[in-house]
This record gives sequence, C-alpha cells and structure tokens, in this order.
Amino acid sequence: MPASEHMPILGKRKSITRRILFPLVALIVLSNAVIISIIMSQLDQQLLDATEQNLINESELQAVQFRANMLELVRDLRFIAGTPPIQGLIRAERNGGIDPRDGSTFQEWVSRLGVIFTEMLKAKPKLQIRFIRANGLEQVRVDRFGPNGSIRTVAQPELQDKSQTRYFIETIGLSRGSVYLSDIELNREFGEIVLPLQPVIRAAMPIYSDEGDLFGIVIINHNLQDTFDALKSLSGDEHQFVITNGAGDYLLHPNPERSFAFEYGRSSNVLDDFPAAQRLIASPQLEVLNGKGRSKDHEFIYSMRSIAYNPENNADRIIVATSHDFEEALAIKSQVLSKIYLFLIFVLLMSGVLAIYVSRRVAGPIVAMRNTLNNNGLATESGDLPIHDGGELGELARAFDNLLGELSQKQKLLAAEVNERKAAEFELRMNNQKLSAAYKELEQFTYIASHDLQEPLCTVQSLVELFEENYRDKMDEQGLTFLGFINESTARMTELIRGLLDYGRLGGESAVSEVDCQELVAAVCVDLGLRIDDVGGRIEYHNLPTIVGKKTELRLLFQNLISNGLKFSREGVPPVITITAEHSAEAWQFSVSDNGIGIEAEHFQHIFMIFQRLHGRDEFEGSGIGLAHCKKVVELHGGEIWVESEPNVGTVFYFTLRENCNEQA
Ligand code: ADP
Repeated sequence: MPASEHMPILGKRKSITRRILFPLVALIVLSNAVIISIIMSQLDQQLLDATEQNLINESELQAVQFRANMLELVRDLRFIAGTPPIQGLIRAERNGGIDPRDGSTFQEWVSRLGVIFTEMLKAKPKLQIRFIRANGLEQVRVDRFGPNGSIRTVAQPELQDKSQTRYFIETIGLSRGSVYLSDIELNREFGEIVLPLQPVIRAAMPIYSDEGDLFGIVIINHNLQDTFDALKSLSGDEHQFVITNGAGDYLLHPNPERSFAFEYGRSSNVLDDFPAAQRLIASPQLEVLNGKGRSKDHEFIYSMRSIAYNPENNADRIIVATSHDFEEALAIKSQVLSKIYLFLIFVLLMSGVLAIYVSRRVAGPIVAMRNTLNNNGLATESGDLPIHDGGELGELARAFDNLLGELSQKQKLLAAEVNERKAAEFELRMNNQKLSAAYKELEQFTYIASHDLQEPLCTVQSLVELFEENYRDKMDEQGLTFLGFINESTARMTELIRGLLDYGRLGGESAVSEVDCQELVAAVCVDLGLRIDDVGGRIEYHNLPTIVGKKTELRLLFQNLISNGLKFSREGVPPVITITAEHSAEAWQFSVSDNGIGIEAEHFQHIFMIFQRLHGRDEFEGSGIGLAHCKKVVELHGGEIWVESEPNVGTVFYFTLRENCNEQA
C-alpha cells in the first residue's frame, strides 16, 4: 500500500493550506461583514445627524454675522448722531443762523455734515444718509444717485418732505438715544422701486437739543445686499437657502420672483412651502427649528433660525432657513460604500495571501516529512526536514527524525531476523524431508523384513510339525521337551513378527471418518466381554466425544489400554477401569485409569517403545508392542500420550486427540 494512503491528513482534499486558508478568510470576511453592517446601520442616522448639525452651525454663524452687521449699522448711526456738525446746527439755529461758539453759519454746518455723510458713504455700503429736520423736511441728504451711481450731496431744491413717512413718525416718537430700525424692504426712490433691486433697512435716531426739544432725526438707508450675499455664502452651495422677514415673507429666495413679492402686491411666504415654520414665526422665544421635512417630490433636512436684530425691539426679526436634500445627504453613503467594498476586496486579497503564506510555513515541514516517507520509505536520509528549526515545527521534525531512525534500525533488525528465520525454516524443511524419507524407508524395511521373516518361520514351523509327527515315537522325553521349546519359540516369533507387521501397517492409507468414541469403547467392551467377566472387572465411561479420525486405529488404541488395565491388575483386586474425556484448547484429552499394579516412575518413558516389557511372560503374557501401537495411533491423530502411575495403586494413561486429525498443525 503506498504511504500516501496511510496519510489522509496530507491528502489534497484536506490539505493544511486549505484548512488554514478557508477558516482564516471566512473569519476575516465575516468580521468585515459584521463591521460593515454595523457601520451601515449607523451611517444613515449619523449622516443625517451630521447634516442637521451642519445646518444648525451654519445658521448660527449667519445669526452672528447678521447681528454684527446690524450692530455696526447702529454704531454708524450713533456716530453720525454724535458728530459735532449736528450740535453746531442746533447752536446756529438757536442763535439766528450763527453758531455762537465759533461763528460758523448754519449753512457751513450743513455742508460740514454733508462732508461727514459723504465720507461715511465712501467707507460703507450705505445707500443714503440724511438729516431731517423736526418738521419732516430733509436738511442734508447724501446718496448714491449721482451720475453712474456716484455719491452726491443732494441740492436744496431736491430735498423732500418726509414728515408723513412711517420711519419719520416712528423715530420722532423715540426717546433720546433710542434707535429705530425699519422693516427690510426694497429700496425706492420717489415711490418707485430702484433697479437693480436693493434690499434696504433704515436705521434712524432722533436728535434732541440740550433742552430736550426735538431737533430732527438722522437716518441711514443701509443696503443689505452684501449682508444677504454674505449669509448665503455661509450656507454651502449644495444647500437651499432662504431669508424671510419676521412674518415669513421671502426676502431672498432661489427663485427671484419670490423674493420681496410683497413689494409687488403678491404673497410669497415660507408657510406656503413649509407650514411647520409657523411655530417659529408665532413664538418669539423659539430660536431654532430643525428636523426632517417633506415637500411634494422630495425629503429634506432643514434648519430655521429666527434672528432678532434689534436689541430695542424684539419683534424685529429675520428668519434664515437652510435645507439639504435627503438623498444628497445620503449620497456620500454610496461613496463610502464603494470605498468600503474596495477596502474589503483588498482585505480579502491580503488575507488570502497571508493565509497561503502562513499555511505554507506550517505545512512545508509536514509536506517534507510526507515526501520523505513517500519517496524513500524508512531507508531515508532526513536532509529535507527542518530539524534545526526552533519552535514546535523544529521539535516535530526532530521527533519525526528520531522516529524514522528508530524505525529504520528496527526494520534492519527485523529484516535480519526474517532472513535468519527463513534459513532456519529452510533447514527444518530439508531435515523434515530427510526424516520422513528415512521414516518411510524404515517402515518399508520393517514391513519387508517382518514379511520376509514370516516365510522361513512358517517353513520352520511346518518342518517342526512334520518332525514331531514322524519322529515323536522315536524321541525321548528330553527331545520332546526341546521340540516343545522350538514350537513355543517359533509361535512367539510369529507373534512378534505379526506385531511388527501390524505396527508397520498402522495408519497407512486408512480412511478418516467421524468416530463416536462412546460407541467405539462400548464395542471394545463387547469384544473383551469374556475377559472382563473372567477377571471380574468393570469398565466405566461416560459422554465420550465424537471426533474425526481413523476408526480402526482408535479402536486398537482403546482396546490396548483397556486390555492392559485388565491384565495388570493386582491379585485379589478386581480391575476397575475408568475412561474420561475433557476438552482443552484444540483437542480432547482422554484418560484411561486403572487400579492395578502400577508402574515405577523410571519406566514411564520406555514402556512406549516397541517390545519393551517390565514383566516376564510367565508373570504377564504379552509381546511388548501394545503401547508402541498406542503411541503411534495417538501421534497419527496429532496428539501425545503419557503415563502417570503409582505402584500398587494404579496407572493413568493420558492422551490427546485433535477433534479433526485432518487439521493437524
Ligand atoms: P505387553 O502388555 O504386551 O507387555 P505393552 O506394550 O502393552 O506390552 O506394555 C508394556 C509394558 O508396560 C507391560 O509389559 C507392563 O509392564 C507395562 N504396563 C502396561 N500397561 C500397564 C498397566 N495398566 N499397569 C501396569 N503396567 C503396565
């Protein structure tokens, strides 16, 4: 079997690279997916919150900017109201047209005031600055309606009566130092809206004499276009930005038609587009309103701020409103997403490369071990193994190297032992062959010898018989006795030769069959019935097994042993022979015991040898071949025979028989 079949762990399907690569990549992808899903779930809300906050911040800046502008306007107004020519005018007027303090005429103060107004207009984006007398007539007016919008001081005949204007009436009602700020309107000249359109706010202040009489008012028409532009620029380009007055009428709208519509008798109010603004318009305490809104075709995020710009009148307000399209606010999300996907792909690639690198580092030494085994088996040099490395891999390689060395050593020893055993086995087989050839030869020799011996013996016996017949009368007593000895000897020799022949024939070609030992012993007992009765003997046997063997030979075995038990009995003790069988590992162990004369231990071995007897024929008749037969039969059945005995107590013959003599080891 190839070595690789023993090592499925290094097989392609479950390679270490894959084992590391897949879980690592899966882990990284999973963790990224979790992070992305968390980010995505939060992203919408965070984007909307951030956009909303952005809008709030913008409107806050716009409020600061607008208030700062208004503050500056009021400061300029106070500056003008406090300039010396105003006091000079009052003094000159009181003194009949001449200022008692320096002798300046009223007109001189008028022109000085005009110079200050002119300088102020040059420095600031004001439209016009005026001084109006307490009766409502303009006294000094400097504006930008000169040729090509240049600054001019308006001549006396063109000065107008403003006594009926709202700003004049409201301003003269104010106490000293108070400031009037008008609504924001379009600039008009002689009742007509001036083009290009100019959003304007008027800041006016009453002038009182030291005695507390109203002397007039100073008034600045302030162009708010720059301020509006500045507010708009504070709002991002992507935002929709509108300005309304405190009532919600548009002052600045992306659609120019809707800006200052009220000046043309039309209505264009933030409430038309966004009814929720009502809260802000209605409650002066509420400064900021923000959240999510919906118009006909789209959703948006908005922030509205109510900016009170007159410290003296909280009702003077503008509202700035900025909105941002919902979809646009989320547009960044798709950009973020595409960047995240790019990042994820990058991370995936990097983790793949990392996993391959790590797994190669880990798998490399193991693959080297596998290759070492695959290519070379145990008879190998471990040169490829990283045995000099530190860490676990180095340890593993060294352990593997040691194991390989030990196995290789053992393999060599084993190979040497196998060779040795093969040589011994070969020698044994040769000896067995020689032995069985010699044994066969001997059997043949025994058979032929005993067979051939029978013939001359028969001749001798026949001749002795003839001799006895013919010469019996002529022989004396002694001759007859000798003849008797010859007869006895030839008979005995015949018996010996027959025994030898039987011994040689034992086994032979006889067939193997199932032999029921219980039946077999019963038959032997029947055969020996007369002798058993003669000696008053008893044979006991129970439950003897059935085995596969040579029936005739087994019968001879039991017959010899039972006969011996009957024969070698003690005088006056009727023989009792007991036959038992018990099963051991692979064979049946039989015992044939008697209560006879017993055998000295020193004879235990040679009684099984052919023609070995312990007694004379006059004591116990017999040829001394019975136990030799028994031994041969037992060995034919792959068993052993041995004896245990105590003189004058009895003898036990033990023998083993395989259940099936064909299955001999
Ligand atoms: P044989 O019985 O013809 O003498 P065996 O070969 O059967 O020859 O026995 C050999 C000898 O072993 C016997 O002569 C006898 O001395 C002794 N022997 C055999 N069986 C018994 C026995 N049951 N009790 C005592 N001695 C025995």
